[in-house]
Amino acid sequence: MDDLLIRGGHLIDGTGAPGRDCDMSVSTGRIVAIERRSSRPAHREIDARGQVVAPGLIDIHTHSDFTLPLNPRAESKVRQGVTLEVVGNCGFSAAPALPERLAMLREYLAPSAPGLERSETTFADYVAAFPATSVNVIFQVGHNTLRLMTAGMESRPVTAEELAEMERLLAEALAAGAWGLSSGLFTAPGCHADGAEILALARVLRRHGAAYSSHVRDEANRGREAVREAVAVAEATGVHVQIAHLKLSGIDNWGGAGRMLEEIAAARRRGLPVDCDAYPYDTATNPLRNLLPRWVVEGGIAAMLERLARREVRARIRAEIERDGLNNFGRIPSWDVVRIAVAPNLPHEAGRTLGEIARRRGVDPLDGVCDFLITDRGETRILIRSMSEADVREIIGASWVLVGSDANALATSGPTSRGKPHPRSYGTHARLLGHFVRDLGVLTLPAAIHKTTGAAAAALGLTDRGVLREGSWADVVVFDPARIGDLATYDDPHRYSVGVSTVVVNGEVVVDGGDHTGTLPGRRLRLTG
Ligand SMILES: [Zn+2]
Repeated sequence: MDDLLIRGGHLIDGTGAPGRDCDMSVSTGRIVAIERRSSRPAHREIDARGQVVAPGLIDIHTHSDFTLPLNPRAESKVRQGVTLEVVGNCGFSAAPALPERLAMLREYLAPSAPGLERSETTFADYVAAFPATSVNVIFQVGHNTLRLMTAGMESRPVTAEELAEMERLLAEALAAGAWGLSSGLFTAPGCHADGAEILALARVLRRHGAAYSSHVRDEANRGREAVREAVAVAEATGVHVQIAHLKLSGIDNWGGAGRMLEEIAAARRRGLPVDCDAYPYDTATNPLRNLLPRWVVEGGIAAMLERLARREVRARIRAEIERDGLNNFGRIPSWDVVRIAVAPNLPHEAGRTLGEIARRRGVDPLDGVCDFLITDRGETRILIRSMSEADVREIIGASWVLVGSDANALATSGPTSRGKPHPRSYGTHARLLGHFVRDLGVLTLPAAIHKTTGAAAAALGLTDRGVLREGSWADVVVFDPARIGDLATYDDPHRYSVGVSTVVVNGEVVVDGGDHTGTLPGRRLRLTG
């Protein structure tokens, strides 16, 4: 007898093909039959009439490694139908953490991982100690983390010995099950790596059959050069390259989505293994300190805080921002487009803009920013409205662009319910299947599902997930296509999406009748074994 029979749904299989009405049977974690009308007996029947049955959604770019240990049920994601999260992105991973560099890593990750305890660990021990979760997890090791473990926060090229040590730590992480290396070349210390450093690490990836994902060097004024740098890694090594959260930040760059997409599409036409992903919002989130010129954090957070108090440093920052715009985000109309998401030491300021805060205090906005960072000990996380909605729609509307929330799994209660985080933690995938498909009509439903299932699995090299077919792992979402949608907003971000009735992970029911069952059947997917 089978475990589950999902009966009467409209099955959209994740390949991009149109849907068909089918029953689907699940046994011991796998899809065992897809038939027009099934008579196979099952312990449990799920009535999917009037609903779509699709592969579990793949969130190809997340930072849930910073919240799953606090909340393994991953509510904000699974309630949208997400069954697999790729973590360790943008160059930041919690491992490896060598004892002599632990304090630095802790300080470095504070705005990204508030509330998370970190201890010294190898990558293998980190993965082994990671808790059971409701979602499947793919780990990556971060380039910034590897650089912190070797050269620290110093702004210089690595020495030959340091590079050899980074290669060794990378190989160790890959052997321990990491899927690949992520980079965050937009910020220190990753920004101090040149192309040769990345290529040396990419050659380690190639030896292990592993992948490279990159938050590229610049997403604003030099965005196209930055994308070319990532493409060049695929060209030189043959390693699969995932360009993270494609965007055009800064008002001078708005309207460039078509040219940017063509840059990547041309590489793909040349046969290069390059993919990209995006989230369906015009607002980004980052540690506040990352908006300042890169030299500000040289030597670490303590050095930064001391520096920010000095008048001549502020004058230099002000002049550089006036000339070049914000680091990675380009020119913004004013500090009113930057608002506080999480400020661990000034929690009452969450939701206010930095423009507002400066006016209230009667100070110059940049002084306000520096003062805020000092009081919040560099731990502030902000939201920045730096993209144009037209560019976002064009990027999301491209059928081959994958979907990554760039966000952690959160919940409306408990330790991950703090502050005013980006609503994309709760809404990315529901917004795609609801707002973008139904309201904006930029994609058909099968095309949207393909982006976030079958195409994402192909980019990851997964052959037994992402498509509903016999023999595949039973990661499944059942949702009402007329109702699925995001409710989370910038003012009220801790709101679950609606419209998903059932989520199955590895054959076990995680969402049942719209409610989380509390089960934790997720697996840690390993590159090897
Ligand atoms: Zn990123």
